[in-house]
Amino acid sequence: MDMKKLVVITGASSGFGLALAKRFANAGYPLLLLARRLDKMTALELPNTLCRQVDVTDKPAFATAVAEAESVYGPTDLLINNAGVMLLGSIENQDPLEWQKMLDVNVMGVLNGMQIVMNSMKQRQTGTIINVSSIAGKQPFATHAAYCASKYGVTGLTAVARAELSASNVRVLSICPGAVSTELLGHTSDPAIIEGYQQWKQSVGAIHITADDIAQTIQFSYELPQAVSLREIIITDTKQD
Ligand code: NDP
Repeated sequence: MDMKKLVVITGASSGFGLALAKRFANAGYPLLLLARRLDKMTALELPNTLCRQVDVTDKPAFATAVAEAESVYGPTDLLINNAGVMLLGSIENQDPLEWQKMLDVNVMGVLNGMQIVMNSMKQRQTGTIINVSSIAGKQPFATHAAYCASKYGVTGLTAVARAELSASNVRVLSICPGAVSTELLGHTSDPAIIEGYQQWKQSVGAIHITADDIAQTIQFSYELPQAVSLREIIITDTKQD
């Protein structure tokens, strides 16, 4: 029987990350779950799982948590850089601190995670990194300037990481989901933008794709043979245009 190897999931306290944690735990993988809200992760009571309160922009804390999990479960075989924030606003009106927040978490957080695991993956000549980008990393949307900048950034840096790691047999993938109902929209500070987004969702006939559909797709891409790299996945609700 093959031994399941360590899976590290960032942003595991809600949405996609929480769905990923449940799926990978059900499939028998040892897990390291990271987010700022520790209670949401420990409440899952998943077996073979370490939960740590880590902000992905804090690279030393991120690295310490990975080292701790690896001392228990062995080297990281899959890192899912999923943590992210979306704060919508027009370029004309948005507080630059919100732009900075998105670039810090969505771009720097992903780079931090990759730098923490990649040397060991290179040495071992195996491993997978899956970065959660967005449809907003492939096409523009009004009120998404810094979010699009961050997600186009994730799409781009994933391709660069692939160029640096493919010769070492390490897979680097990005997944670009369309709109899925999670906590993500709730952090936007402008209620009119939230209302407009909800109206758009109604206009496409509501969004039926779920966080678990995204988690299932990520699990599928990981469980393909190591020689098979599903480099970039774009996945949306069928009714999203
Ligand atoms: P949620 O808001 O439900 O989840 C985001 C997760 O990221 C939470 O667990 C949050 O945990 C964590 N997080 C946020 N900031 C940090 C930080 N600084 N350090 C560590 N963890 C952090 O949203 P989703 O599940 O929808 O989003 C997951 C990813 O998917 C994001 O990268 C998002 O951009 C992307 N995405 C989402 C889409 C959607 O429509 N839902 C579409 C396309 C992409 P905590 O607050 O506890 O730290």
